[in-house]
Amino acid sequence: MMLRLRKKDVCIKKTEGAYVSLKAVRKLFNRKVTAVDDLTMEVKRGEFFSLLGPSGCGKTTILRLIAGLEVPDRGTIAIGDDVVAGNVWVQPEKRRVGIVFQDYALFPHMTVFENIAFGLKGCTKQRLQEKVIEMLNLVGLDNMAQRYPHELSGGQQQRVALARALAPSPKVMLLDEPFSNLDADLRMELRTETKRILKEKGTTTILVTHDQEEAFSLSDRVGVLNHGRLEQVGPPEEIYHRPAGRFVASFVGRTDFLNGRISGNSLISDIGIFKFNGNVVLENGEVDLMIRPDDVDFNVDPHGNAEIVDAQFLGADVIYKLCLSDGTTIHSIKPSTNISVVGSRVKIYINPAHIIVFSKDS
Ligand code: ADP
Ligand code: MG
Repeated sequence: MMLRLRKKDVCIKKTEGAYVSLKAVRKLFNRKVTAVDDLTMEVKRGEFFSLLGPSGCGKTTILRLIAGLEVPDRGTIAIGDDVVAGNVWVQPEKRRVGIVFQDYALFPHMTVFENIAFGLKGCTKQRLQEKVIEMLNLVGLDNMAQRYPHELSGGQQQRVALARALAPSPKVMLLDEPFSNLDADLRMELRTETKRILKEKGTTTILVTHDQEEAFSLSDRVGVLNHGRLEQVGPPEEIYHRPAGRFVASFVGRTDFLNGRISGNSLISDIGIFKFNGNVVLENGEVDLMIRPDDVDFNVDPHGNAEIVDAQFLGADVIYKLCLSDGTTIHSIKPSTNISVVGSRVKIYINPAHIIVFSKDS
């Protein structure tokens, strides 16, 4: 394996508490596809961290770089106190990193027991037996040790993959969209269970997913990725309610943008005039208001400023499409306990605390 040593990479400064850190990491494929672009990120010890982004934005490549399955073109990666890529190279098997892939990647010719035992090198036969049984208990598959992967459901295979990755007691667990092949009920159940197991063991975890609900429900912090770059890192609530830019605003949840104008301390728009307390520094001028459907409420009112033009029943909620007098549309999500009919005129109410303003040219 070729390694270019660079003087600059020798020293890596870490923030207190950072356990996995990437500094200015870049990875190109075939010298032209930039999969990871000058990426700097830190994950704390014991943290459940998610990388959220669309398909092709570099999620899998980042995990493979941390695991040592890819060599970065530049930058430094450290795990614990050790630099593992940069001016040195630590082999994947020495990094104490566990990885679970989307397709589970179990060995088809091995039983569940043998799959889990695979990574347990250098321990006595009795210790190995105990460890595999402990793992089987942990993931709730005690009576399936002798089955082969094809004799298991998708959910059970995923549990085996998790048990196999956990058996050698990794310091860091990398999860590459491990729940995406499961149906909704099982997905929910396994998410919760996986998080419980990893938190119980204090394992630092990095999950990558394109599913915002998954990232939000599991993570202490989320990093939003776009074209191999981090757009924003923060707790789920912050990412959702205070997106740092248009990409995050649109990728994370449903969003409407409306025209507005700042005049002194006021934000003037078709849905009302609000006091502008400034999430960005803007001179007087044209802006876009970002509003999420859960911050939009309405009452049926014959003198209202909008009309319901569509209503989609989602089960617990209904999402309404409201058309303002100038033709702009905005969405509102409301509990389905009380359904309003398409064609009704309505008066819109907005939660002003959640309005985010972007300058037109941002
Ligand atoms: P994600 O997991 O977010 O879908 P990937 O990390 O798999 O994204 O891919 C990021 C980019 O790198 C994509 O454009 C992909 O086509 C490209 N890529 C990934 N692996 C390879 C490879 N081995 N050879 C060439 N291009 C690759
Ligand atoms: Mg991927």
